[in-house]
Amino acid sequence: MRKSTKLVHGGRRAAHPPKTVNLPIARASTVLFDSLAELAETQKLFDAGEPIATYGIVNMPQRNAFEELVCELEGGHRAVTVPSGLAAVAVAIMAVVKAGDHVLMVDSVYGPSRTFCDRTLSRFGVETTYYDPLAGGEAVGALMRPNTKVVYVESPGSLTFEVQDIPAICRAAHAKGAFVIADNAWATGLYCPVMEYGVDLVVQPATKYLGGHSDVILGAVVANERAWPRLHETCRDLGQTASPDDIYLMVRGMRTLAIRLERQGAAGLEVARWLAGRPEVKRVLHPALESDPGHALWKRDFKGASGLFGVELQPCSKEQVAALMDHCEHFGIGYSWGGFESLIIPANLRHGRKVRPWDGGPLIRLHIGLEDPADLMADLDVAFARLRAAA
Ligand SMILES: *Cc1c(COP(=O)(O)O)cnc(C)c1O
Repeated sequence: MRKSTKLVHGGRRAAHPPKTVNLPIARASTVLFDSLAELAETQKLFDAGEPIATYGIVNMPQRNAFEELVCELEGGHRAVTVPSGLAAVAVAIMAVVKAGDHVLMVDSVYGPSRTFCDRTLSRFGVETTYYDPLAGGEAVGALMRPNTKVVYVESPGSLTFEVQDIPAICRAAHAKGAFVIADNAWATGLYCPVMEYGVDLVVQPATKYLGGHSDVILGAVVANERAWPRLHETCRDLGQTASPDDIYLMVRGMRTLAIRLERQGAAGLEVARWLAGRPEVKRVLHPALESDPGHALWKRDFKGASGLFGVELQPCSKEQVAALMDHCEHFGIGYSWGGFESLIIPANLRHGRKVRPWDGGPLIRLHIGLEDPADLMADLDVAFARLRAAA
């Protein structure tokens, strides 16, 4: 079965009577048993790792369906549900480190993930250092220490869209016994099968493309067999869970992930090419463009592009950037991305980078939604006229 087919049918086996296409929502803290014997039997199956519910915090139907589906998507062994993408980052890292360990983190990582490492993880005696997103396997291997337990990748990088050599980094990390964690928000397992390249734990901020409708915050961590026992225990010990209503919306969104990504990726590339030809634009940061420094790696390792990319403007004032963004008809100004609607935001690197600071001009980030790209380009054409008028 292809992944697009799996996304339609995955997680639907647990059909309850009446047999509806979608699973009914079970809201529960307590799960009831008919007898003490049934309770003991269920507990035994649960302890043996069966996906069976003893209490509302584990293995409820929505949650099992989502975990099965996200496992199919990322090609993993088992998955856990957590209440946000950032929680997924924290749980994935905490699953495999202990006091005295070292995390080797890509410098272009999502800003709040950096803050988690520097502010909270450090309190537990785990040190984080940062490496260049353009570093290959050899360079990453050279930065590893005897106590390096995690090498963390995110490709393309947040805001600056550098493509990493994930297979080579996995080989280098595994040669020294570390786990590789990948944040796969941009491509998802549909367009970048990071686990096939050796990644042990995938962080999936499902809030973005998986949900796809800007109405749910949710995350998942997918593990291979090596990482699963640690992930499973840590997620349980930290009491991570999510509401069945949110998970219902998430699973519903995932049914259409393949077609949304295909359409948003194609429209995104069309808008990116158009932007690359604009006099107000210095450079478009999009790995599917032939001119992009990460294009060769992207072409080798990715099966497609999503609809999120960066635009470096020609030198201009803050007022001009505001003139560009304010009053767009189709582009909303706001955080997050991956929904059906287009967004525009200044890509301020608020979480200071240490290895590869941004030395270019004004940087903005576009997310291309399901609108007709011709309408989006017309909107941006007017926006550029406002930018010029504000000079
Ligand atoms: C948004 C995002 C997250 C965090 O997801 P939330 O659900 O918003 O917490 C993590 N990583 C990346 C790359 C993201 O874009």
